[in-house]
Amino acid sequence: PRSPAAVDRKPLPLHESAVIPRSLDFNAWYLDVVAKAELADYGPVRGTMVIRPYGYAIWEAIQEYLNVKFKETGHSNMYFPQFIPYSFIEKEASHVEGFSPELAVVTIGGGKELEEKLVVRPTSETIVNHMFTQWIQSYRDLPLMVNQWANVTRWELRTKPFIRTLEFLWQEGHTAHASAEEAEREALQMIDVYKKFAYEQAAIPVIAGRKSRAETFAGASCTYTIEAMMGDRKALQAGTSHNLGQNFSRAFETQFTDENGQKQHVWQTSWAISTRFVGGIIMTHGDDTGLMLPPRLAPIQVIIVPIWKKGDEKNGVLDTAASVEEVLKSAEIKVKIDDSEQRTPGWKYNFWEMKGVPLRIEIGPRDVACGSVVVIRRDVLGKVGKEFGISMEPSVLITHVKSRLEDIQSSLLQRATHFRDSHIVDVSSYEELKEAISQGKWARGPWSASDADEQKVKEETGATIRCFPFDQPEGSKTCFMTGNPAGEVAIFARSY
Ligand code: AMP
Repeated sequence: PRSPAAVDRKPLPLHESAVIPRSLDFNAWYLDVVAKAELADYGPVRGTMVIRPYGYAIWEAIQEYLNVKFKETGHSNMYFPQFIPYSFIEKEASHVEGFSPELAVVTIGGGKELEEKLVVRPTSETIVNHMFTQWIQSYRDLPLMVNQWANVTRWELRTKPFIRTLEFLWQEGHTAHASAEEAEREALQMIDVYKKFAYEQAAIPVIAGRKSRAETFAGASCTYTIEAMMGDRKALQAGTSHNLGQNFSRAFETQFTDENGQKQHVWQTSWAISTRFVGGIIMTHGDDTGLMLPPRLAPIQVIIVPIWKKGDEKNGVLDTAASVEEVLKSAEIKVKIDDSEQRTPGWKYNFWEMKGVPLRIEIGPRDVACGSVVVIRRDVLGKVGKEFGISMEPSVLITHVKSRLEDIQSSLLQRATHFRDSHIVDVSSYEELKEAISQGKWARGPWSASDADEQKVKEETGATIRCFPFDQPEGSKTCFMTGNPAGEVAIFARSY
């Protein structure tokens, strides 16, 4: 072990690329990270967002994983048009009621008033059913299982980059089945795909469960959700899977002839994850320094910072850095060298930490001489996360870097799980719930009260039922609101 090349490490000036500390102001920190880590920018229209390459690369990593899982579970990708006749939206009563305040409507095309107004898709159940009626005749056409990667538009009043935008990117799965049981299995299977994705790729310990009636998707019989706790302890609905029952198939007459020659309406599901998830990653793992990306979704997993002072050191250091990069690339590690001459190494350390890159490798003249590098973890700042004298020998280096990336991946999940669990309170009275919510925590308690009571909790505390978790405690339960027997506990929280 030896000391690294001495580097002048002044903090970055705020206007340059240091962020407002998270501990000071969570909301300002979030917006600052989105801007300074170059994830997204505001679009010219209120509530819209330009996703920049670094932010888009995180979305691509999400897509790459999920796309494989969707295919493994039997779905094919396809594409539906973005313009939907207004009359389609009106066909399913609760759907139009839920969505009409958020619709963007096109009334003029090519300079002429349109005969029928068009809706810019807020979601595609209606147009999907319109097409399914033409593709489904008999039980042999079922199940029909498709997915599309697309943009959607919802005229949201309160917006926030990634979390809630007027236009966002998502995938929407749509399936049709011959039986209620099969549709239910599918809806549950897809929320489980999302849950595994959140845990294993994003290191976000979501709680999966069922939405209350009030929070169920407009047009669904039942909505399953994954709920994540953000760094300010607010809940984020990070993905949803709906059992649509026969609501849309009855509205659109999506029917099939069963094995006995009887006409029946199909049973359907739909499920989606959006660019909101990128916001969830930022708000789960980020710290005072900025973004912190889980290695499995990080566009850059390792940043190499070459360090030289004298001109004659430069070539040796850069050559070595390039060969280390080659070695890591050959092992499919996402690596980048920051060899710009306009910035000092100290500036680069700060910058890439703020951008959330999981690992940094420093290479100075003495490292070149020793055939070793310095490896620094983003998640453990300071001396503890720093290892000197790591051999450059390819197989040793690859093994070391891979195992550190895995360490970071699991430590992020562990940290977030601990954070989540230490901020959920079990409550057995409404008073206890109010107390927990006012402290910014999540409250979990037995619930069998009415929709009106749920509304009252929302008005009085700002908290909503996030879900009835699939994981339920054993034993008999008494509703904390009414004192009646309750079948399940619900989780209440303030949310985004
Ligand atoms: P929904 O079709 O309403 O169930 O929405 C599907 C998923 O899209 C939700 O679980 C959210 O994660 C996400 N989502 C909904 N509205 C927005 C929005 N305005 N901006 C970004 N993501 C959204």
